[in-house]
Amino acid sequence: MKKKLMTPGPTPLPPQVVEVLGQQVLHHRTREYADVFASLNSGLKYVFATHYPVVTLTASGTGGMEAAVVNCFRPGDRVLLVSAGVFGDRFYDICRSMGFDVTKLEVPWGKGIGAGEVMERLTPDTRGVIVTHNETSTAARSDIESIGKALKGTGALFIVDAVSSLGGMEVRPEEWGIDIVVTSSQKALMCPPGLTFLSISQRAMEAAQGNTSRRHYWDLCKAVDFLNKQPPQHPFTPAVNIVMASLAAVTLIQEEGLENVWLRHKRMGKMAREGLRAMGLEPFADERYVSDTLTAVKVPEGIDAQEIIRRMEEDFGIIIAGGNRSLKGKIIRIAHMGYISEGDVLDTLKALEGTLAGLGLPVDEGKAYTAARTIMDIRG
Ligand SMILES: *Cc1c(COP(=O)(O)O)cnc(C)c1O
Repeated sequence: MKKKLMTPGPTPLPPQVVEVLGQQVLHHRTREYADVFASLNSGLKYVFATHYPVVTLTASGTGGMEAAVVNCFRPGDRVLLVSAGVFGDRFYDICRSMGFDVTKLEVPWGKGIGAGEVMERLTPDTRGVIVTHNETSTAARSDIESIGKALKGTGALFIVDAVSSLGGMEVRPEEWGIDIVVTSSQKALMCPPGLTFLSISQRAMEAAQGNTSRRHYWDLCKAVDFLNKQPPQHPFTPAVNIVMASLAAVTLIQEEGLENVWLRHKRMGKMAREGLRAMGLEPFADERYVSDTLTAVKVPEGIDAQEIIRRMEEDFGIIIAGGNRSLKGKIIRIAHMGYISEGDVLDTLKALEGTLAGLGLPVDEGKAYTAARTIMDIRG
């Protein structure tokens, strides 16, 4: 059966990306590869909406998170870590293993955070602030724009995990004062897993250059030195075929236009929430913090979340995700990021209506579709 990934990474691949993945590998020190990599680098700057260098490392997103902090901070450095869910906790664990003096600012799951609460906890010796833009475990976002603007002029570096938002939600490294934005290939960037991308400000670069703490594979100074070579290179063998695929994906974003891509995701988020509400379900995240790239909803009392997920896949070929940790069994998550259209969201809502009706819930089949269709037709 045909399957559709409505999951928060990996996400479906566009045919243009699949086609590139069938090509012969290139040697990474050839002219031909250098042309691909140079085009990817300028495409990444477009997608990151930045003039900062964007480095490409071979790793999943977690590798990029580790790379960001091992370059900016030293053991003993004070960092303020905001956690609003599983991925915030992951960043906390990374910082703890690196021996930083971490203060964890816990945000209730389902909510996000803005500048006020961060600035209240900022001490003069805080060297870094780390925030997850879009907490994939709860489908809630934080206001990184206000946080970054408030942090400008303080001594703290601002590091943002934008793994499940970049390429689907607005992020502006310079204007918003973000020193390092981390993302990876397999979410809104429509590629297979394997690459992580980081935009690096001048300030972060200087911190990395002055940082004597140990690192080798993750050394961003080395990565940027190689990026600046003519032609641009990598220090080590990159995941060449995924680099080639990323160029195809980034080209698709350039063709659609970044702002249109952001609008499409915003529209899909609204369609999902309104459709789910029309089914009588309640979105998990606070409306003030909702994500554009995925939606989490509470599972009605007496219904088994795993059974919903199983039937969605077996009966409709649509794969959605459950909750993590304390949210296991309590929520289901529908991603609408990357190579996903409004039509896919409508199909998913219809399938979920059918699934819930089959499980005995009193849903009026068609209501969710109509609610979502109305949003889609507004086209804002
Ligand atoms: C997916 C994801 C990551 C990275 O996970 P990997 O499995 O290492 O790619 C990090 N942060 C967030 C918010 C994510 O959604």
